[in-house]
Amino acid sequence: GVAKLMPRIQALAPEVVNRIAAGEVVARPSSALKELLENAIDAGSTQVSVTVVRGGVVRLEIVDNGCGIFVEDAPQLCQRYSTSKLRALEDLSNIATCGFRGEALAAISYVAEIRVVSCSLLEDFGWTASYRDGVVIAPGARPAARTSGSTIVVSDMFRSIPSKFESFIRNQAEEYRQMLNIVARYAIYHSGRIAMRFRKREQSDARTLGADMDDLNTNANATHMDNIRRIFGHKLVSGLGQVSRTELHRVQHPILGTKLSTDIVLERAFYSKLGASQPKAVHIYFVNGRLVECRVLRKAIEQLYAKYYLKGPHYPFCYLELTMAPEILDVNVHPTKKEVRFLDEQIVFRAIVDILERELIQSGKQQSFVVQP
Ligand code: ADP
Ligand code: MG
Repeated sequence: GVAKLMPRIQALAPEVVNRIAAGEVVARPSSALKELLENAIDAGSTQVSVTVVRGGVVRLEIVDNGCGIFVEDAPQLCQRYSTSKLRALEDLSNIATCGFRGEALAAISYVAEIRVVSCSLLEDFGWTASYRDGVVIAPGARPAARTSGSTIVVSDMFRSIPSKFESFIRNQAEEYRQMLNIVARYAIYHSGRIAMRFRKREQSDARTLGADMDDLNTNANATHMDNIRRIFGHKLVSGLGQVSRTELHRVQHPILGTKLSTDIVLERAFYSKLGASQPKAVHIYFVNGRLVECRVLRKAIEQLYAKYYLKGPHYPFCYLELTMAPEILDVNVHPTKKEVRFLDEQIVFRAIVDILERELIQSGKQQSFVVQP
């Protein structure tokens, strides 16, 4: 009877767990790219170059000149929950890197093949190895020519999941756009620090001359404005206003037994002045160096703009960078780390909207705009 329909509870095999978890971290090629790019940034690179073949499904390659990876770390590089960025639970409240969960490379290795060529800053020889399902493929790490930095090549993503593979091949243009978006945003954030290059290649091999197309190429010494202009065009930039470093709010809170008093700072912001608008809304928010989504803030800013236009839709551009002590920021909200929470969020959002509103009114004074009742 009923007992037959009642399966017993059993632990899933680690392999199954890893596969399920992988789907959460890398749901698509562009989420893999975000993780790889953040690794290159965490490695202290000043040059990062991304090459994508067929929307990243066939091949996704990222070359950096960062600190590299010790050859001794090669065996556990793609093991789940293995990281050089977090040691103890306490460190979680002090994270300065984008990564910390030690899941990305593992997850990618469960849906694709990863080849690594790397040379640590502290060593004068390079090594290479390939990975699948969290482990290094025989014969393991071998010597390879490489100056310090890492090259990570991901191939045949989702080949073992035909429905996904087909759908990403079909929608490769969309996936490519998504990746370009991610690289462009980080290129703007790291203006003056990192030169980023993003290009598409039609075939897996580079032998066809002239087959590469640069879609993004920023200089290491370009300013934020330079890079925004380069990426979004002259017209958009001519309609932008700028907010320089402003302290938004002081948090006073007893955490972990110590009295903490810390500022939340708006490092810089770029926003559409009144009258300037474009075909699509662009909201770019960084919190402690992390590209995040924040629906609440986005909504508040959209409402602000709506208030100053008679007829919609008018879409603003809004770029902002927030920094705060890591103790008051919770980065561990979502497996893809695209959401964060911090203390006194509502107060901070209010402060941002107030600043933007003052700026908008200022910028609107030269023109005559009517406030919507
Ligand atoms: P996490 O970034 O959360 O630590 P990942 O799976 O993304 O986890 O990476 C695992 C580890 O591999 C990192 O902690 C880092 O030590 C190393 N690593 C990955 N990519 C790079 C890179 N481009 N340069 C140097 N080290 C890297
Ligand atoms: Mg990482």
